[in-house]
Amino acid sequence: MTTTHTGTPEGQVLVVGAGPTGLTLAAQLLARGIHVRVIDKGAGPASQSRALSIQARTLELLDTMGLADAFVGHGHRVRRLHWYASQRNLCDLDLARNGSRYGFVLDLPQSRTETLLRARVQELGGTIEQGVELARLAERGGAVDATLRDAAGRESEVSAGYVVGCDGAHSRVRHEIGLPFEGQPYPQDWLLADVALDGAGSDGAVHAFFRPNGLPLVCIPMGGQRWRLVMANAGDRGGQPPTFAEIQEQVAERAPWPIEVSDPQWLASFRCHLRSTSSYRRGRVLLAGDAAHIHSPAGGQGMNTGMMDAHNLAWKLALVADGRAPRHLWPGAHPCRVRRARVHQQARRTVDHAELGQAGRAGHRRSRREPHADGPARCGPPRCPSSRSPTRGARWSSPTATAAGRSPEIGSPTSTSVASTDRRGCITCSATDATC
Ligand SMILES: Cc1cc2nc3c(=O)[nH]c(=O)nc-3n(C[C@H](O)[C@H](O)[C@H](O)COP(=O)(O)OP(=O)(O)OC[C@H]3O[C@@H](n4cnc5c(N)ncnc54)[C@H](O)[C@@H]3O)c2cc1C
Repeated sequence: MTTTHTGTPEGQVLVVGAGPTGLTLAAQLLARGIHVRVIDKGAGPASQSRALSIQARTLELLDTMGLADAFVGHGHRVRRLHWYASQRNLCDLDLARNGSRYGFVLDLPQSRTETLLRARVQELGGTIEQGVELARLAERGGAVDATLRDAAGRESEVSAGYVVGCDGAHSRVRHEIGLPFEGQPYPQDWLLADVALDGAGSDGAVHAFFRPNGLPLVCIPMGGQRWRLVMANAGDRGGQPPTFAEIQEQVAERAPWPIEVSDPQWLASFRCHLRSTSSYRRGRVLLAGDAAHIHSPAGGQGMNTGMMDAHNLAWKLALVADGRAPRHLWPGAHPCRVRRARVHQQARRTVDHAELGQAGRAGHRRSRREPHADGPARCGPPRCPSSRSPTRGARWSSPTATAAGRSPEIGSPTSTSVASTDRRGCITCSATDATC
């Protein structure tokens, strides 16, 4: 074992994870003159498209980083959302009136987002250490000691003033500081396909088709002929990725008119979870992004909330790390109130989105309220039978995937047990969380 002691506690931040959250945080800390070390256990940026939608507020934040023009230049602008109930137009939302100078959702593959953020980190003098994994953490006095492991299994020790876990849903950092990831899975798998499409409608809009049978189809334009298809309520597939023939069948079943699908680039199935930590900080160790909260992709907010976490944390952490502000400036002061409320609101909207898929079914309004019908308003996704079974609940939102000419996996399924749900299967809110 090689042991190296580096770092000047108080002046140095160790960012664990170089996904969109960690890269945004690193760029914003570097821009404020903070010495940052960024490690990632992976080999490089995400290769799959994954998160596609960049929301107006995120573009506004990227603008403060001098990056919005580059993002907009590489992405595809989506100005409208069309919702249909069978062939009937249900809703036509014009995003030009969203109150932002960015009157659109920008569709850009996550791989591209990460590349642009990496370039910014490097421009500011930062480096991203690939193949370096956080193994252990221990807070001692005014610093945090971290054990890092490289791809060859060699271990080294660093001492940092602060450590931020931006290491995704399976966060090692969260595990090391002993914070739970409370929540539960949604009941059914989702299918996802990046394909060429003909017949969905204008590529300046997202087209969401809902059916009385509860099988929705969402078509998201990626620019050119490319589209992302998202299909909720795909049953329990046991982690099995879809074949292209299955995607074609599902589209034929779910679309209200013929839509031609061809040229698949990425096919995946995944199970969504709604989970969040009870606190975003323990001592000098903080969490941000998927490490702190995950939820359904409906609404395209997961990556956006992580980047917003990072942008908000960066200026506070920079002041604290520089000794120019007290530590109660940052989210630990309000451990879960604001953040949980945000995740729960998203979850509520997600449930509404998913259930709108059943808009034509009698009793729709009643079924929307059922999870909460027997008591005061509670937070969380609909009651789901699988939440009571740790074995079924063991999968998280890691999709299994097939991709033409590429390795099919992103992440790997793991055993996360379902923790602390109340009798109705909702997240149990802490006593201090009055908003719940
Ligand atoms: C199929 C799919 C579609 C999605 N669509 C959308 C969408 O349309 N819009 C949206 O906003 N979101 C979407 N999301 C969610 C989005 O991808 C995530 O919310 C986002 O990637 C979270 O970013 P992050 O930086 O917090 O975590 P991650 O992207 O998971 O990055 C974590 C990083 O930490 C590294 N790491 C992990 N453990 C360690 C360790 N011990 N030591 C060092 N490094 C470590 C990993 O290698 C990884 O690079 C989607 C997700 C999936 C899977």
